[in-house]
Amino acid sequence: MGYVFAAPGQAVLPVVGTTDLLPVRRIYCVGRNYAEHAREMGHSERESPFFFGKPADAMLVMSGGAGAVLAYPEQTADLQYEVELVVAIGRAGANIAVENAGAHVWGHAVGIDLTRRDLQSTLKKQGRPWEVSKSFDHSAPITAVVPAKGAGPYQKGRIWLDVNGVRRQESDVALMIWSIPEIISHLSRYVAIAPGDLIFTGTPAGVSSIVVGDVLSGGVEGIGTFRLEVVRGKG
Ligand code: MN
Repeated sequence: MGYVFAAPGQAVLPVVGTTDLLPVRRIYCVGRNYAEHAREMGHSERESPFFFGKPADAMLVMSGGAGAVLAYPEQTADLQYEVELVVAIGRAGANIAVENAGAHVWGHAVGIDLTRRDLQSTLKKQGRPWEVSKSFDHSAPITAVVPAKGAGPYQKGRIWLDVNGVRRQESDVALMIWSIPEIISHLSRYVAIAPGDLIFTGTPAGVSSIVVGDVLSGGVEGIGTFRLEVVRGKG
């Protein structure tokens, strides 16, 4: 017996400083994890973390000198950026206690949680799942992974995003409402996590719309930087 057609390729991320690849299994994202961003979206700032997903093949790898190119997606006139620290899981587990969660971290990257905000708002109003507003082709631009080695989960450092050289988001990972160990612990109560899972840990304030021709740049201190140019899509 064989596959009825060619099996899809494994989604992978480059690992900084090596020729190795990290195989990606699932992508989880945390909503509203910086108080100032929760407020700008009209919510109170302290609530349990909540999660949504993106498919692993939604990644758009932004490593290498020239930067990456994003085709403006279909079904939106309000595409928004959300720069986020991403944690890569290296050890399986479920119902993980916060004090043990750090041992499940393999490394970190910088990601952009792209959002079709107009579509999301419409679907929210309709009480429908807003998955397609978050989960679409190339909706998860991401840098190469930096291995944590012995250092454990990332705790403190600058995170920023510029549009056309103008600073739009700037914060510190220390200001996350839920830390990486807390996020891993919460997530692992809902699903068993496994090596290759990525978690986008939420975005600071300053999200807004981007248009064709914009160039996004940014990063997380000590983890990586990116450059992403928005070009016209097929539509
Ligand atoms: Mn986000």
